[in-house]
Amino acid sequence: AKRTGRNQFVFFGNDAQRVSVLDGGMVHDLRLALELDQIDVHYQPIVDLATGRVHKAEALVRWKHPQKGYVPPVEFIPIAEESGLIHAIGNRVLQKAVQTTREWNGVCVDGVLRRISVNRSPREFYGYDGADDWISHMNTQGGCANMLSLEITEGLLLSDHPKVLAQLKQLRAMGMTVALDDFGTGYSSLSYLKKFDIDYIKIDRSFVLDIVDDPADRAIVESIIAMSRKLGIKLIAEGVETQAQAALLAAAHCDFAQGYLYARPMPQQEFLAFVRAAENT
Ligand code: C2E
Ligand code: CA
Ligand code: CA
Ligand code: CA
Repeated sequence: AKRTGRNQFVFFGNDAQRVSVLDGGMVHDLRLALELDQIDVHYQPIVDLATGRVHKAEALVRWKHPQKGYVPPVEFIPIAEESGLIHAIGNRVLQKAVQTTREWNGVCVDGVLRRISVNRSPREFYGYDGADDWISHMNTQGGCANMLSLEITEGLLLSDHPKVLAQLKQLRAMGMTVALDDFGTGYSSLSYLKKFDIDYIKIDRSFVLDIVDDPADRAIVESIIAMSRKLGIKLIAEGVETQAQAALLAAAHCDFAQGYLYARPMPQQEFLAFVRAAENT
């Protein structure tokens, strides 16, 4: 164990993948943050490239720290995963997202339910029945599965954990949709696309970044789009920041886009005002 700072130790395993970061002070603070309702959620619209309308939104967790302001998830999710607090945090995010979908759908103009997608770490599925948890939330809060979407990563599907397939099936049977996040990063086996029912693929920001200038990135994105269309999976491009990127993606028949070009992740009230204004234009 190597001391890296006050109260913080980094444990190096045999491979770099298994680095474990446990910060006693941080774990205590996170637990307190849950008690004091400092775990907040921001929402970022996902836009239909063909119509320009908001299709759904992604819930992104924030720690509203009294001194540090909004702490981004990279700074506490790994610690939450290590310490097991990820379950309580994930449920808090779900609870807030359900409440937001109810407010959002209350102002629905055309009877179409808009979903909010919630991220779940692989850790949230292991040794623990994540689906049961979601189902009990639906029952106690009157949340509708058809107002929610679940974002998972390729790593979860590759883990081949026996419970994962069953949990995903159960959630989809309830009416939830499943999005495969950060697509194209890290794994090259695509067989899981056949094995699991996936509704959306989110093309990772790293491929979108240079799509205008780099023919290789453009070719990769176009191939992902062609493959997904054949499999009947909808595409979402992540990290769209410029009009040129959006135009190129629309021309390549990408379905949806998310990024600073449209809106940054926003606190609930700001998000609801944003979608209301967008619906009235
Ligand atoms: P992600 O799921 O890939 O989320 C997208 C990230 O890209 C978000 O960062 C978002 O703020 C950022 N982003 C969106 N549009 C743009 C853009 O145009 N340009 C750039 N440069 N960035 C953009 P954020 O909110 O810091 O979240 C980081 C990661 O933390 C997420 O990546 C996700 O893996 C994780 N995360 C967030 N919320 C939760 C949660 O509730 N539970 C779990 N388990 N993980 C979460
Ligand atoms: Ca995500
Ligand atoms: Ca992503
Ligand atoms: Ca990510």
